Amino acid sequence: MIDLGMLKGSSFVVLGLARSGLATVRALKAAGVDCLAWDDNAASREAAGAAGAALVEPAAIDWSRISALVISPGIPNLLPKPHPIAAAARAAGRKLICDVELLARAQPRARFIGITGTNGKSTTTALIGHVLKEAGRRCEVGGNIGRGALDLESLGDGGLYVLELSSYQLELLETFRAHVAIWLNITPDHIDRHGDLAGYVAAKANIFARQQPGDCAVIGIDDQPSHDVWERLRDRGGISVVPVVRETSVAGGVSFRAGKLVDADGYAVDFDDVATLPGDHNAQNAACAWAACRWLDVPREAIVAGLKTYPGLPHRQERVAAVGDIVYVNDSKATNADATARALSSYRDIYWILGGQAKEGGVAPLAPWFDRIRHAFLIGEATELFASQLEGKVAYSRCGDLRSALDAAYARAQRDGRGPAVVLLSPACASWDQWKSYEHRGDAFRVMARALPGARAMGRAA
Ligand code: ADP
Repeated sequence: MIDLGMLKGSSFVVLGLARSGLATVRALKAAGVDCLAWDDNAASREAAGAAGAALVEPAAIDWSRISALVISPGIPNLLPKPHPIAAAARAAGRKLICDVELLARAQPRARFIGITGTNGKSTTTALIGHVLKEAGRRCEVGGNIGRGALDLESLGDGGLYVLELSSYQLELLETFRAHVAIWLNITPDHIDRHGDLAGYVAAKANIFARQQPGDCAVIGIDDQPSHDVWERLRDRGGISVVPVVRETSVAGGVSFRAGKLVDADGYAVDFDDVATLPGDHNAQNAACAWAACRWLDVPREAIVAGLKTYPGLPHRQERVAAVGDIVYVNDSKATNADATARALSSYRDIYWILGGQAKEGGVAPLAPWFDRIRHAFLIGEATELFASQLEGKVAYSRCGDLRSALDAAYARAQRDGRGPAVVLLSPACASWDQWKSYEHRGDAFRVMARALPGARAMGRAA
């Protein structure tokens, strides 16, 4: 746990008592710092109360005694409508911050590697953490992935914090400095919270705010908004800006394509054999991780070794089981069409399970990969929308839920006997119509796939 002793004498309100909020309350309490807590959800309040949080009714907060509001990044503080506690804090002139800001204040001698982007954050964060640990570097990995920022260990001088940072978190930072800032890519997302694409880009660009001479900015420049951000960044004096591009080369940059990357000096790395990093998109993640680790002086051989032993993350093109030459892949994390496009582009013959709560545009943007689909199995609320979008282009069945879809996919794959293929859960949808979360959905898929007749388990343990 991070020692927040230097905050003694301050007083905070913690809003949102899930993973990061609870960790914040625990760290503040352990350091003897005053804090009041609230969550709109009664069960979360109860759990936090049981863990010793001092709960306060929103209307009873005396803001004159409060230093700042520590708000969970998932809770709207401005758009589409500010939470009443956020509005009250603002009206009282109090700062809104998140747990990562407290970590930065508590660890002034450590260095921070921040990772943002629309897609690939968790993979790149986990990959960098893995490479650094394998190379013997003292680091902690967390933020929007795994443990909350204040649940991490205090590292002090020379320590490295590798942090996945969402646009919501980036808006809530005041002094945090990314010694290495990684920007992977941008496609429209979370527009309800940021107003428009420009607002979303501006929130993400906070990752470069407060960088100082000698720091490093790694930026994927293949999409137009990211390219524009790079153009604005590259003239900043003193900061090493490393562009990451697909297939072409740019001076001082790292280029990539599936399973390969080439550093600015021509040094080439082949990781085609790494099953946990399939596709161009993972090559982008690997290239960004490469640039960051090189800047941190990790020897090339150690980075290559780390890439090759990367265990992968659950729910991201996770190979969970095989029945004969049919591999079952859990890509439950793909909650939008863009993420699902990556999975579809990674395989040739696909039995595709999709559906849930649709995002804008549905699966229409996935048409370029429709010829790879042997059959589609529709689940959840999106069924009729997706059926209309696939009609005449892809053979599909309405399956209702995941259990039925998996059984139908299994039966069809066994019956077809058309050689190697994947049964791919890549829903292009949020999970909330039928599941608690994408993890819940993916965990269920893993268990069910491993229990299919003739299945042998693959990959990590459940
Ligand atoms: P995030 O944490 O940003 O949501 P993840 O690493 O968890 O990203 O990956 C989520 C999904 O996004 C993956 O399942 C994959 O389909 C897709 N993805 C991963 N990396 C990239 C990338 N660099 N570009 C585009 N899509 C990606």
